[in-house]
Amino acid sequence: MEIYEAHIEILNDPELISKTIQSIEEEGWSAHTALHKVATEYCEVLKSLEDSYLMGRIEDIQMLSQMIIGYLVGSEKNEIKLNKPSILVAEKLTTNQFAAIKSEFILGIIMAKGGTTDHLMILAKALGIPSLINAGPVIEKIETGDKLVLDTLQSTVYIEPSPAFIETSKKSKENLEQKQREQIASSHEPAMTKSGVKVAIHANIGSVLEAQAAKTNGAEGIGLLRSELCFIDCTHFPSENKQYETYKELLDILPKSLHTIRLLDFGTDKPLEFLSLDQEENPAMGLRALRLGITYYNQLLKPQIRAILRLSKEYAIRILCPMIATPADFNQIYQLIYSEYTQLKKEGVQLNKLVPIGIMVEIPNVAIHPELFLDKVDFFSFGTNDLSQFLMAADRTNEKVANYLIEANESLLMLINEFTKKAYKKNKPVSICGELASDTSSINKLLQMNIDALSIAPALIPETKEFIRSLE
Ligand code: PEP
Ligand code: MG
Repeated sequence: MEIYEAHIEILNDPELISKTIQSIEEEGWSAHTALHKVATEYCEVLKSLEDSYLMGRIEDIQMLSQMIIGYLVGSEKNEIKLNKPSILVAEKLTTNQFAAIKSEFILGIIMAKGGTTDHLMILAKALGIPSLINAGPVIEKIETGDKLVLDTLQSTVYIEPSPAFIETSKKSKENLEQKQREQIASSHEPAMTKSGVKVAIHANIGSVLEAQAAKTNGAEGIGLLRSELCFIDCTHFPSENKQYETYKELLDILPKSLHTIRLLDFGTDKPLEFLSLDQEENPAMGLRALRLGITYYNQLLKPQIRAILRLSKEYAIRILCPMIATPADFNQIYQLIYSEYTQLKKEGVQLNKLVPIGIMVEIPNVAIHPELFLDKVDFFSFGTNDLSQFLMAADRTNEKVANYLIEANESLLMLINEFTKKAYKKNKPVSICGELASDTSSINKLLQMNIDALSIAPALIPETKEFIRSLE
């Protein structure tokens, strides 16, 4: 009982309450962010007093504030509840809404809006969920409970089709699944063209389900762990131990391979639910990814970097930094990683040498100036999804400008070609982890450039390997 009394005392603490209200009223924070800020400040003060009784209170305050934040955020979320396998039809779903639904309940997705490389589509593709985006006003004709046949190859949806058509569609689906089973059976063989050009095929993942699919489908490693997706549904900052356990669970699925963990890339269509940030006019080019992670360093990147470094003792890991624009950006994150590394060693954690640190090539300034980074950075991974949106000034989540993104491929290939020539002179590996890596009209050209690895959605690995084996 004593413990509950102590908790009630904290919850009734007049200063905690009044400061939170002040932060809402005077600084304009939402209730959950205000409480998080005040509770963090409170804990910092208690920590500085170095009193063992007060140290115990810190844990109570953190636990209680996270419970309240969870309640506040949960009640604000626009969750979708499915109780049987269904095709989801919506104007536009958010990444967070999707992540909150059990994926085995989603037979398909039809959205009136959305871009092919927005993160919801990337997630759906990774899990092999058939999706039709930018379907337009047809969704208004669909009623809840309607029978649908979704043909993503023809980008068509049939509403209440005849029983005969449903039977034919079921047969086509079975044939397709049979073909996929055959592709999976050979997916553990390497991807090599008839003339012997070989490329490593890695997986882009962000969940246990995707890691399992990567293993089944013959991934030779995790080429891009979109770490933010592991926590997209979190109601509070994921602690160091929570991150450690989460990554460990994923790495254990493919324990012997090389894994590339990307530092948190929150922002734009991957918002942090529990942090209400100022609305930005252009969030894709604003305070996102490392820019956000460094602003909230103690809560976001510090625990992440420490968790990854601790895991690097047991697993072959590389750290990948998103949205680097300048050498100064890289130097800053490098210094932060290095100081966490030395701090951990001081704390007595046994570590091997510092893990390789690479960058995403997804901002044009990097793509056109490899020489600024070649001496400092250990490896490069082309994020062609962001790179194309910045090259074409076309928002990747906006279906109205989607055609521009398709036309970016030629420029992307030209940039990758020039970049790799320079990188290989310095023995720096280059891989591709954006959607271009699984684009069959580009793969042959990428292989001619001797790209080290293609990192793609797990569901696409078997057919991509088969495609590469069919090339001359
Ligand atoms: C990219 O930008 O191409 C990429 C791989 O990262 P994300 O899609 O997560 O932004
Ligand atoms: Mg990106």
